Amino acid sequence: MTVDTAIVAITYVAARSRPHGPTAALWHAVEVHRPPAEVDGACELTACGALARVSTEQTWPVPGTDVCPSCRTLLG
Ligand SMILES: [Zn+2]
Repeated sequence: MTVDTAIVAITYVAARSRPHGPTAALWHAVEVHRPPAEVDGACELTACGALARVSTEQTWPVPGTDVCPSCRTLLG
C-alpha cells in the first residue's frame, strides 16, 4: 500500500536580492511549496517581503554574513 502525501512540506530556499545603492546584495529566504528546481532563477517574494531571485545553488540557511537580518530573525 502506498501512502500518497498530498501535503508538501514547506521548505525554504535561498534567494539573492539585487544591491540597492550602498546596500550590498543579500541572501533572503523564500518559502516554496513547489520543488526547488521549479523556482530556480525565478523572482519570488522573500520571507521579509522583498523580491529576490531564487538560487538553488545555495540552501537556506546560508552561511556567511551577507544574509538578510530580517529573514534570519524571522526564520530563526
Ligand atoms: Zn530578507
